[in-house]
Amino acid sequence: MKRSTDPLKKRKALALQVIERLKMQYPDSSCTLTYDREQAWKLLVSVRLAAQCTDARVNVVVEDLYRRFPTVEALADAEVNEIEKLVHPCGLGNSKARDISACMKMLRDKYHGIVPDTMEELLALPGVGRKSANLILGDVYGKPAIVTDTHCIRLSNRIGLVENISEPGKVERELWKIIPPEEGNELCHRLVDHGRAVCTARTKPHCEICCLKEICKKNGV
Ligand code: SF4
Repeated sequence: MKRSTDPLKKRKALALQVIERLKMQYPDSSCTLTYDREQAWKLLVSVRLAAQCTDARVNVVVEDLYRRFPTVEALADAEVNEIEKLVHPCGLGNSKARDISACMKMLRDKYHGIVPDTMEELLALPGVGRKSANLILGDVYGKPAIVTDTHCIRLSNRIGLVENISEPGKVERELWKIIPPEEGNELCHRLVDHGRAVCTARTKPHCEICCLKEICKKNGV
């Protein structure tokens, strides 16, 4: 069969192979922030806290936060400094507490405590960027989504899905061109798992045991 020389077609074909291989390797990948789909506002809080913090730590910190403020209304009414004391272990306490407070107020006043399900409305919430909005759209509402976190960006470049792009918005736009919309959300969860276990950031990637080694641009580089 004749191989395509069209770069976009080649990247699309590569993306499909990556998707299939990672599905086999990580069949159960999902969001590592703990939340209940019926209480999607908690995922909004957790993604804000997860900036420059591990998901594992966020999952512990929110237990105390929700014991003290168990509803959107309770968090919306809380003093910012009370929130800050509880979220302090996640770092950037003051700005995160301010965003959470403002976000919960808007959720309460504009959306009756229900997290909206469009990109435009999510982006209008304080402290919510495209990464968080995509996570909500994909995980909570099952809509097409691509979450360009640090793992997604690193692995997409190494594998060759994108070419030397580090800006999250640009990576997202490039990935939309080559990934079937219904595959985006789960692929991103799998890239996180693969980035943590094999294609690591802080150590040399473990190419010798990688399920993508035959198709990855940076295998062994
Ligand atoms: S082959 Fe190496 S660089 Fe490529 S995805 Fe696997 S671990 Fe990462």
